[in-house]
Amino acid sequence: MPLRVFNSLTRRKEPFTASKDREVKFFVCGPTVYDYLHLGHARTYLAFDIITRYLKYSGYHVRYLMNVTDVAERVVQRAEELKRDPLDLARQYQAAFLEDMQSLGITSINQYERASDYIPQMIAQVEGLVKKGVAYETETGVYFQVNKFPRFGELSGQSHEELGLRRLELCSSKRSPEDFSLWRKYEKGLGWDSPWGYGRPGWHIEDTAVSMAHFGETYDMHGGASELIFPHHEAEIAQAEALTGKAPFVRYWLHTGLLSVEGRKMSKSLGNVVRIRDAIKEYGVPTLRFYFASFHYRKPMVLSLTRLRKATAELTVINKNLQAFTTAPPTTNPKQERRLQVLLERSESAFKRSMDNDFDTPKALSVLKALAKNLSSLRVNQEAKLTAEATFQRMANALGIMPQYSPQ
Ligand SMILES: [Zn+2]
Repeated sequence: MPLRVFNSLTRRKEPFTASKDREVKFFVCGPTVYDYLHLGHARTYLAFDIITRYLKYSGYHVRYLMNVTDVAERVVQRAEELKRDPLDLARQYQAAFLEDMQSLGITSINQYERASDYIPQMIAQVEGLVKKGVAYETETGVYFQVNKFPRFGELSGQSHEELGLRRLELCSSKRSPEDFSLWRKYEKGLGWDSPWGYGRPGWHIEDTAVSMAHFGETYDMHGGASELIFPHHEAEIAQAEALTGKAPFVRYWLHTGLLSVEGRKMSKSLGNVVRIRDAIKEYGVPTLRFYFASFHYRKPMVLSLTRLRKATAELTVINKNLQAFTTAPPTTNPKQERRLQVLLERSESAFKRSMDNDFDTPKALSVLKALAKNLSSLRVNQEAKLTAEATFQRMANALGIMPQYSPQ
Protein backbone atom coordinates (compact mmCIF):
# COMPACT_ATOMS: atom_id res chain seq x y z
CA MET A 1 0.00 0.00 0.00
CA PRO A 2 1.39 3.39 -0.93
CA LEU A 3 1.32 6.38 1.37
CA ARG A 4 -2.11 7.97 1.67
CA VAL A 5 -2.63 11.49 2.95
CA PHE A 6 -5.79 13.31 4.00
CA ASN A 7 -6.06 16.33 1.71
CA SER A 8 -8.14 19.18 3.21
CA LEU A 9 -8.83 20.41 -0.33
CA THR A 10 -10.71 17.26 -1.38
CA ARG A 11 -11.64 16.18 2.17
CA ARG A 12 -10.49 12.61 1.60
CA LYS A 13 -7.42 10.40 1.86
CA GLU A 14 -5.50 10.34 -1.40
CA PRO A 15 -2.46 8.42 -2.62
CA PHE A 16 0.57 10.64 -2.16
CA THR A 17 2.78 11.35 -5.15
CA ALA A 18 5.61 13.84 -5.50
CA SER A 19 5.56 16.02 -8.59
CA LYS A 20 9.01 14.94 -9.74
CA ASP A 21 11.93 12.70 -8.72
CA ARG A 22 10.47 12.02 -5.29
CA GLU A 23 11.13 15.65 -4.37
CA VAL A 24 8.53 17.23 -2.09
CA LYS A 25 8.29 20.99 -1.81
CA PHE A 26 6.67 21.63 1.53
CA PHE A 27 5.64 24.95 3.06
CA VAL A 28 4.30 25.54 6.56
CA CYS A 29 2.99 28.84 7.95
CA GLY A 30 5.42 29.97 10.60
CA PRO A 31 4.64 31.99 13.70
CA THR A 32 4.03 35.70 14.16
CA VAL A 33 7.03 36.62 16.28
CA TYR A 34 5.86 39.06 18.95
CA ASP A 35 6.05 36.77 22.01
CA TYR A 36 7.39 33.38 23.13
CA LEU A 37 5.76 30.41 21.43
CA HIS A 38 3.36 28.11 23.27
CA LEU A 39 2.44 24.44 23.04
CA GLY A 40 -0.23 25.16 20.41
CA HIS A 41 2.63 26.06 18.06
CA ALA A 42 4.57 22.99 19.20
CA ARG A 43 1.58 20.80 18.34
CA THR A 44 1.66 21.96 14.71
CA TYR A 45 5.42 22.10 14.24
CA LEU A 46 6.04 18.71 15.88
CA ALA A 47 3.34 17.11 13.72
CA PHE A 48 4.96 18.44 10.54
CA ASP A 49 8.41 17.47 11.80
CA ILE A 50 7.21 13.87 12.12
CA ILE A 51 5.52 13.98 8.71
CA THR A 52 8.74 15.26 7.11
CA ARG A 53 10.87 12.68 8.94
CA TYR A 54 8.57 9.93 7.74
CA LEU A 55 8.62 11.18 4.13
CA LYS A 56 12.42 11.05 4.28
CA TYR A 57 12.32 7.56 5.82
CA SER A 58 10.11 6.61 2.83
CA GLY A 59 12.73 7.82 0.36
CA TYR A 60 11.44 11.30 -0.46
CA HIS A 61 13.64 14.37 -0.59
CA VAL A 62 11.80 17.08 1.28
CA ARG A 63 12.47 20.80 0.86
CA TYR A 64 10.78 22.20 3.92
CA LEU A 65 10.33 25.97 3.96
CA MET A 66 8.80 28.00 6.79
CA ASN A 67 8.08 31.70 6.78
CA VAL A 68 8.46 33.89 9.84
CA THR A 69 5.79 36.58 10.15
CA ASP A 70 7.62 39.67 11.37
CA VAL A 71 5.35 42.17 9.59
CA ALA A 72 1.99 42.04 11.37
CA GLU A 73 -0.40 44.18 13.39
CA ARG A 74 0.39 42.20 16.54
CA VAL A 75 4.11 42.89 16.17
CA VAL A 76 3.46 46.60 15.64
CA GLN A 77 1.07 46.81 18.62
CA ARG A 78 3.40 45.00 20.99
CA ALA A 79 6.32 47.19 19.88
CA GLU A 80 4.24 50.30 20.55
CA GLU A 81 3.36 49.05 24.05
CA LEU A 82 7.01 48.37 24.80
CA LYS A 83 8.24 51.49 22.95
CA ARG A 84 10.49 49.30 20.82
CA ASP A 85 11.33 49.11 17.13
CA PRO A 86 8.93 46.51 15.64
CA LEU A 87 11.46 44.67 13.46
CA ASP A 88 13.94 44.66 16.33
CA LEU A 89 11.32 43.13 18.62
CA ALA A 90 10.48 40.57 15.93
CA ARG A 91 14.18 39.60 15.61
CA GLN A 92 14.34 38.96 19.34
CA TYR A 93 11.33 36.64 19.30
CA GLN A 94 12.44 34.98 16.10
CA ALA A 95 15.68 34.04 17.89
CA ALA A 96 13.64 32.66 20.81
CA PHE A 97 11.45 30.71 18.37
CA LEU A 98 14.50 29.14 16.66
CA GLU A 99 15.89 28.20 20.07
CA ASP A 100 12.61 26.46 20.95
CA MET A 101 12.59 24.56 17.67
CA GLN A 102 16.15 23.42 18.25
CA SER A 103 15.39 22.34 21.82
CA LEU A 104 12.41 20.34 20.60
CA GLY A 105 14.63 18.53 18.09
CA ILE A 106 12.73 19.96 15.11
CA THR A 107 15.54 19.57 12.62
CA SER A 108 13.53 18.94 9.47
CA ILE A 109 13.07 22.56 8.36
CA ASN A 110 15.59 23.48 5.66
CA GLN A 111 14.87 27.16 5.41
CA TYR A 112 13.28 29.95 7.45
CA GLU A 113 12.38 33.14 5.62
CA ARG A 114 11.28 36.46 7.13
CA ALA A 115 8.34 38.26 5.54
CA SER A 116 10.15 41.61 5.78
CA ASP A 117 12.79 40.34 3.34
CA TYR A 118 10.16 39.83 0.60
CA ILE A 119 8.43 43.22 0.37
CA PRO A 120 9.37 43.76 -3.34
CA GLN A 121 7.92 40.32 -4.24
CA MET A 122 4.70 41.14 -2.32
CA ILE A 123 4.34 44.48 -4.10
CA ALA A 124 4.88 42.76 -7.47
CA GLN A 125 2.16 40.22 -6.68
CA VAL A 126 -0.31 42.90 -5.60
CA GLU A 127 0.44 44.87 -8.77
CA GLY A 128 -0.16 41.72 -10.80
CA LEU A 129 -3.52 41.14 -9.13
CA VAL A 130 -4.60 44.73 -9.75
CA LYS A 131 -3.56 44.37 -13.40
CA LYS A 132 -5.62 41.18 -13.73
CA GLY A 133 -8.66 43.07 -12.45
CA VAL A 134 -9.16 40.92 -9.32
CA ALA A 135 -7.90 43.58 -6.89
CA TYR A 136 -8.79 47.24 -6.44
CA GLU A 137 -7.45 50.27 -4.59
CA THR A 138 -9.41 52.38 -2.12
CA GLU A 139 -8.38 55.19 0.24
CA THR A 140 -7.40 52.61 2.90
CA GLY A 141 -5.50 50.09 0.80
CA VAL A 142 -5.64 47.45 -1.92
CA TYR A 143 -8.20 44.63 -1.64
CA PHE A 144 -8.75 41.28 -3.30
CA GLN A 145 -12.22 41.14 -4.81
CA VAL A 146 -13.46 37.74 -3.66
CA ASN A 147 -16.41 37.48 -6.07
CA LYS A 148 -13.95 37.56 -8.99
CA PHE A 149 -12.51 34.23 -7.82
CA PRO A 150 -15.29 31.60 -8.01
CA ARG A 151 -13.28 28.88 -6.24
CA PHE A 152 -13.06 30.97 -3.03
CA GLY A 153 -14.57 28.83 -0.27
CA GLU A 154 -13.52 25.50 -1.79
CA LEU A 155 -10.83 24.71 0.82
CA SER A 156 -13.02 25.54 3.82
CA GLY A 157 -16.09 24.00 2.16
CA GLN A 158 -18.22 27.15 2.41
CA SER A 159 -20.92 28.26 -0.01
CA HIS A 160 -21.16 31.82 -1.30
CA GLU A 161 -24.06 32.45 1.10
CA GLU A 162 -21.99 31.27 4.06
CA LEU A 163 -19.03 33.37 2.95
CA GLY A 164 -21.33 36.39 2.70
CA LEU A 165 -22.00 36.09 6.44
CA ARG A 166 -18.30 36.26 7.28
CA ARG A 167 -17.13 39.78 7.78
CA LEU A 168 -13.40 40.04 7.34
CA GLU A 169 -11.44 43.17 8.20
CA LEU A 170 -14.26 45.65 8.79
CA CYS A 171 -13.67 48.60 6.51
CA SER A 172 -16.24 50.80 4.82
CA SER A 173 -14.15 51.40 1.73
CA LYS A 174 -14.33 47.76 0.58
CA ARG A 175 -16.70 46.79 -2.23
CA SER A 176 -17.82 43.70 -0.36
CA PRO A 177 -17.45 42.56 3.28
CA GLU A 178 -15.62 39.34 2.32
CA ASP A 179 -12.86 41.13 0.40
CA PHE A 180 -9.50 40.95 2.13
CA SER A 181 -6.54 43.32 2.16
CA LEU A 182 -3.44 42.89 0.06
CA TRP A 183 -1.87 46.20 1.06
CA ARG A 184 -2.79 48.63 3.83
CA LYS A 185 -2.03 52.31 3.71
CA TYR A 186 -0.47 53.91 6.79
CA GLU A 187 0.82 57.39 7.35
CA LYS A 188 3.72 56.38 9.56
CA GLY A 189 5.18 53.56 11.60
CA LEU A 190 6.46 50.29 10.18
CA GLY A 191 6.05 50.41 6.41
CA TRP A 192 7.45 50.64 2.91
CA ASP A 193 6.82 52.78 -0.17
CA SER A 194 4.64 51.21 -2.83
CA PRO A 195 2.69 52.19 -5.97
CA TRP A 196 -0.22 52.88 -3.56
CA GLY A 197 1.82 55.00 -1.18
CA TYR A 198 3.36 54.17 2.16
CA GLY A 199 2.04 51.10 3.97
CA ARG A 200 2.34 47.42 4.82
CA PRO A 201 1.39 44.17 3.08
CA GLY A 202 -1.61 42.12 4.19
CA TRP A 203 -0.83 38.89 6.03
CA HIS A 204 -2.03 36.48 3.32
CA ILE A 205 0.12 37.92 0.53
CA GLU A 206 3.22 37.57 2.72
CA ASP A 207 3.03 33.78 2.63
CA THR A 208 2.20 33.57 -1.07
CA ALA A 209 5.18 35.80 -1.89
CA VAL A 210 7.61 33.81 0.27
CA SER A 211 6.49 30.37 -0.92
CA MET A 212 6.32 31.29 -4.62
CA ALA A 213 9.73 32.96 -4.49
CA HIS A 214 11.25 29.56 -3.66
CA PHE A 215 8.83 26.99 -5.03
CA GLY A 216 7.44 28.66 -8.14
CA GLU A 217 3.83 28.85 -9.28
CA THR A 218 2.68 25.48 -7.93
CA TYR A 219 4.08 23.07 -5.36
CA ASP A 220 3.41 19.84 -3.51
CA MET A 221 2.34 20.33 0.07
CA HIS A 222 1.24 23.09 2.44
CA GLY A 223 0.69 22.64 6.16
CA GLY A 224 -0.69 24.68 8.99
CA ALA A 225 -2.99 24.71 11.99
CA SER A 226 -6.64 24.06 11.10
CA GLU A 227 -7.69 27.52 12.34
CA LEU A 228 -5.70 28.95 9.41
CA ILE A 229 -7.88 27.30 6.75
CA PHE A 230 -10.22 30.27 6.65
CA PRO A 231 -9.55 32.94 5.65
CA HIS A 232 -5.75 32.61 5.49
CA HIS A 233 -5.22 29.54 3.30
CA GLU A 234 -8.31 30.24 1.25
CA ALA A 235 -6.80 33.67 0.51
CA GLU A 236 -3.39 32.18 -0.35
CA ILE A 237 -5.04 29.96 -2.97
CA ALA A 238 -7.09 32.84 -4.41
CA GLN A 239 -4.06 35.13 -4.71
CA ALA A 240 -1.76 32.57 -6.29
CA GLU A 241 -4.27 31.02 -8.70
CA ALA A 242 -5.71 34.36 -9.79
CA LEU A 243 -2.17 35.59 -10.43
CA THR A 244 -0.79 32.61 -12.35
CA GLY A 245 -3.94 31.04 -13.81
CA LYS A 246 -2.54 27.70 -12.66
CA ALA A 247 -4.44 25.34 -10.38
CA PRO A 248 -4.04 23.78 -7.98
CA PHE A 249 -1.56 26.16 -6.37
CA VAL A 250 -0.77 23.41 -3.85
CA ARG A 251 -1.62 19.74 -4.43
CA TYR A 252 -1.96 18.62 -0.80
CA TRP A 253 -3.22 20.73 2.10
CA LEU A 254 -2.55 19.29 5.56
CA HIS A 255 -4.00 20.69 8.78
CA THR A 256 -3.37 19.96 12.44
CA GLY A 257 -6.09 19.71 15.10
CA LEU A 258 -6.41 22.10 18.01
CA LEU A 259 -4.63 21.74 21.33
CA SER A 260 -6.57 22.24 24.54
CA VAL A 261 -5.37 22.25 28.14
CA GLU A 262 -7.22 19.87 30.49
CA GLY A 263 -10.23 20.16 28.17
CA ARG A 264 -10.24 23.95 27.88
CA LYS A 265 -9.10 26.10 25.03
CA MET A 266 -5.62 27.52 25.64
CA SER A 267 -5.95 31.29 25.85
CA LYS A 268 -4.37 34.29 27.50
CA SER A 269 -7.67 35.26 29.13
CA LEU A 270 -7.95 31.86 30.85
CA GLY A 271 -4.32 32.14 31.95
CA ASN A 272 -3.53 28.60 30.77
CA VAL A 273 -1.03 29.35 28.02
CA VAL A 274 1.96 27.02 28.35
CA ARG A 275 5.16 28.26 26.76
CA ILE A 276 7.30 25.71 24.92
CA ARG A 277 10.36 26.50 27.03
CA ASP A 278 8.46 26.10 30.30
CA ALA A 279 7.01 22.75 29.17
CA ILE A 280 10.50 21.53 28.24
CA LYS A 281 11.80 22.45 31.70
CA GLU A 282 8.86 20.71 33.34
CA TYR A 283 8.58 17.47 31.34
CA GLY A 284 11.68 17.19 29.15
CA VAL A 285 11.83 16.81 25.38
CA PRO A 286 11.61 12.97 25.15
CA THR A 287 8.33 12.90 27.10
CA LEU A 288 6.88 15.83 25.15
CA ARG A 289 7.74 14.35 21.77
CA PHE A 290 6.41 10.94 22.77
CA TYR A 291 3.23 12.52 24.12
CA PHE A 292 2.61 14.66 21.04
CA ALA A 293 3.18 11.64 18.78
CA SER A 294 0.55 9.71 20.73
CA PHE A 295 -2.15 11.92 19.15
CA HIS A 296 -3.04 11.76 15.49
CA TYR A 297 -2.05 15.07 13.88
CA ARG A 298 -5.55 15.89 12.59
CA LYS A 299 -7.35 15.07 15.84
CA PRO A 300 -7.84 17.51 18.69
CA MET A 301 -5.09 17.10 21.28
CA VAL A 302 -5.51 17.44 25.02
CA LEU A 303 -2.71 18.48 27.28
CA SER A 304 -3.38 16.69 30.54
CA LEU A 305 -1.10 16.10 33.48
CA THR A 306 -2.44 12.57 34.02
CA ARG A 307 -1.80 11.62 30.42
CA LEU A 308 1.63 13.25 30.44
CA ARG A 309 2.56 11.12 33.46
CA LYS A 310 1.31 8.07 31.61
CA ALA A 311 3.49 8.99 28.63
CA THR A 312 6.55 9.29 30.89
CA ALA A 313 5.78 5.85 32.36
CA GLU A 314 5.33 4.29 28.91
CA LEU A 315 8.59 5.77 27.70
CA THR A 316 10.36 4.36 30.77
CA VAL A 317 9.01 0.88 30.00
CA ILE A 318 10.21 1.08 26.39
CA ASN A 319 13.65 2.16 27.54
CA LYS A 320 13.84 -0.60 30.15
CA ASN A 321 12.85 -3.24 27.61
CA LEU A 322 15.42 -2.00 25.13
CA GLN A 323 18.04 -1.81 27.84
CA ALA A 324 17.35 -5.43 28.78
CA PHE A 325 17.90 -6.47 25.17
CA THR A 326 20.99 -4.38 24.45
CA THR A 327 22.83 -5.10 27.70
CA ALA A 328 22.27 -8.87 27.67
CA PRO A 329 25.51 -10.67 26.77
CA PRO A 330 25.45 -11.87 23.14
CA THR A 331 24.79 -15.60 22.72
CA THR A 332 24.45 -17.65 19.57
CA ASN A 333 20.93 -19.00 19.40
CA PRO A 334 19.71 -19.77 15.85
CA LYS A 335 16.12 -20.38 16.91
CA GLN A 336 15.81 -17.02 18.64
CA GLU A 337 17.70 -15.30 15.84
CA ARG A 338 15.13 -16.58 13.35
CA ARG A 339 12.35 -15.40 15.62
CA LEU A 340 14.00 -12.02 15.86
CA GLN A 341 14.24 -11.70 12.10
CA VAL A 342 10.51 -12.41 11.67
CA LEU A 343 9.68 -10.02 14.52
CA LEU A 344 11.68 -7.19 12.94
CA GLU A 345 10.15 -7.69 9.51
CA ARG A 346 6.62 -7.83 10.86
CA SER A 347 7.16 -4.82 13.11
CA GLU A 348 8.60 -2.63 10.40
CA SER A 349 5.83 -3.49 7.94
CA ALA A 350 3.18 -2.79 10.62
CA PHE A 351 4.94 0.48 11.34
CA LYS A 352 4.86 1.44 7.65
CA ARG A 353 1.22 0.40 7.30
CA SER A 354 0.27 2.69 10.18
CA MET A 355 2.27 5.65 8.97
CA ASP A 356 1.22 5.16 5.33
CA ASN A 357 -2.35 5.53 6.53
CA ASP A 358 -2.27 9.34 6.84
CA PHE A 359 0.57 9.27 9.40
CA ASP A 360 -1.14 7.28 12.14
CA THR A 361 1.47 7.95 14.83
CA PRO A 362 -0.54 6.50 17.77
CA LYS A 363 -0.61 3.11 15.99
CA ALA A 364 3.04 3.40 14.98
CA LEU A 365 3.95 4.04 18.62
CA SER A 366 2.13 0.92 19.75
CA VAL A 367 4.13 -1.08 17.19
CA LEU A 368 7.35 0.24 18.73
CA LYS A 369 6.10 -0.46 22.27
CA ALA A 370 5.28 -4.06 21.35
CA LEU A 371 8.60 -4.50 19.55
CA ALA A 372 10.56 -3.30 22.59
CA LYS A 373 8.63 -5.69 24.81
CA ASN A 374 9.28 -8.65 22.51
CA LEU A 375 12.95 -7.77 22.20
CA SER A 376 13.45 -7.70 25.97
CA SER A 377 13.32 -11.49 26.31
CA LEU A 378 15.30 -12.41 23.19
CA ARG A 379 18.92 -13.49 23.51
CA VAL A 380 20.83 -13.45 20.25
CA ASN A 381 24.30 -13.00 18.75
CA GLN A 382 26.03 -9.65 18.39
CA GLU A 383 25.25 -9.20 14.71
CA ALA A 384 21.52 -9.86 15.20
CA LYS A 385 21.49 -7.46 18.13
CA LEU A 386 22.98 -4.67 16.06
CA THR A 387 20.47 -5.26 13.27
CA ALA A 388 17.60 -5.10 15.77
CA GLU A 389 18.91 -1.90 17.33
CA ALA A 390 19.34 -0.24 13.94
CA THR A 391 15.81 -1.25 12.91
CA PHE A 392 14.31 0.13 16.09
CA GLN A 393 16.34 3.32 15.80
CA ARG A 394 15.31 3.84 12.18
CA MET A 395 11.63 3.79 13.11
CA ALA A 396 12.07 5.82 16.29
CA ASN A 397 13.96 8.41 14.28
CA ALA A 398 11.15 8.61 11.71
CA LEU A 399 8.87 9.66 14.58
CA GLY A 400 11.52 11.78 16.23
CA ILE A 401 11.07 10.01 19.52
CA MET A 402 14.29 9.73 21.40
CA PRO A 403 14.41 6.88 23.84
CA GLN A 404 17.27 7.46 26.23
CA TYR A 405 18.88 4.12 25.63
CA SER A 406 22.24 3.99 23.96
CA PRO A 407 22.99 1.15 21.61
CA GLN A 408 26.20 -0.70 22.47
ZN1 LIG B 1 0.44 31.22 6.12
